[in-house]
Amino acid sequence: MQNSTRMSRRSFLKLTGTTAAGATAAGLAAFGVKAALAAPQKEPKRGQEFPSVCPYCAVGCGQLAMVSDGEIINIEGNPDSPINQGTLCSKGSASFQLVHNERRMTKGMYRAPGSDTWEDMSVDEILDRVAERMIESREKNFVETVDGTTVNRTESLAWLGSACVDNEECYLISKLGRTLGIVYLEHQARI
Ligand code: SF4
Repeated sequence: MQNSTRMSRRSFLKLTGTTAAGATAAGLAAFGVKAALAAPQKEPKRGQEFPSVCPYCAVGCGQLAMVSDGEIINIEGNPDSPINQGTLCSKGSASFQLVHNERRMTKGMYRAPGSDTWEDMSVDEILDRVAERMIESREKNFVETVDGTTVNRTESLAWLGSACVDNEECYLISKLGRTLGIVYLEHQARI
């Protein structure tokens, strides 16, 4: 049922597109203007469709990932999703670039304090360094009590979430942050 809905919507778009093109050509001919021939439309890339969910935010829009020869070749809104009915916002529309984008960083970069130069660094090295500094800062600035009240917190660390973080990751981040005594837990969408 859902598939036939999608097909009929596509057929409708095809039909209205053809009708509009015909009407435009007829209108131009009436003014003695020769209609320019449009470049032949390329068939949209189609592969095997896999329903997926946009990873960016909790709206959870449905997507269709098209796969051909083991490669994602396109991602678009899933018309069968009751949430977004085939639409995607600008971020969701660009999610294909999560997979294919020649400008996407594939390595870590580090700029030392006071330096104006970025150096390449492996992601493992960066993660180790972040972990070491978090522990160092926590140990230096841990507050056990305030005015006789136990608080067990550190105010020298903050954790900023991301729109790419899913529910399960949010849960783990909150748990880890609270365990470390971080009180400044925030999300980029609120900034
Ligand atoms: S398409 Fe936009 S609104 Fe929908 S889940 Fe993705 S980010 Fe959220």
